[in-house]
Amino acid sequence: MADNCILCGIVDGAIPSKKVYEDDEIMAVLDLNGAAPGHTFVFPKKHHTIIEQVPNALVGKLFAMANKVSTSIFESLDIQGTNIFLANGITAGQLVPHAMLQVIPRREGDNVKLSWEPRQLTEEEMSTVELKVKEVVDSMPLPGAAQSGQKQKPKSGGEVIADEENYLVNQLKRIP
Ligand SMILES: [Zn+2]
Repeated sequence: MADNCILCGIVDGAIPSKKVYEDDEIMAVLDLNGAAPGHTFVFPKKHHTIIEQVPNALVGKLFAMANKVSTSIFESLDIQGTNIFLANGITAGQLVPHAMLQVIPRREGDNVKLSWEPRQLTEEEMSTVELKVKEVVDSMPLPGAAQSGQKQKPKSGGEVIADEENYLVNQLKRIP
């Protein structure tokens, strides 16, 4: 456990909580200061600061549990919807340094704000971001996933990089 971590304190029982689920790997507890009754934290019992550090199998289990909690509060409480929310990093509004999903019950006019102003990107911005993100995504294949839609050329010889550069040039040519 990490010192001064509220969720680790809940896991080891030092901090009392209202548990809706617990097994040897994960827990789901009610947020005592949540946006609405039924607001629930779903988190790994082992301390991981951000979701990137959580093993993929456990990420899958956390989302499956959040989905189950979402269904449960939808069926047992008088709500019209849920948000499944993840704050990753302080800038993103993460208040506790222990990775967790939040299931937030939603009712019409509840004044819970999870909105943003839409921002129109230029074609160039979109293409640049697409290339940058895709390159990193492709370097981290999902375990067991088929590499569909990906060029199957070997990484050696710079063929893939050359293709990406051509792609960028082609994208730029399309900009008037
Ligand atoms: Zn912790």
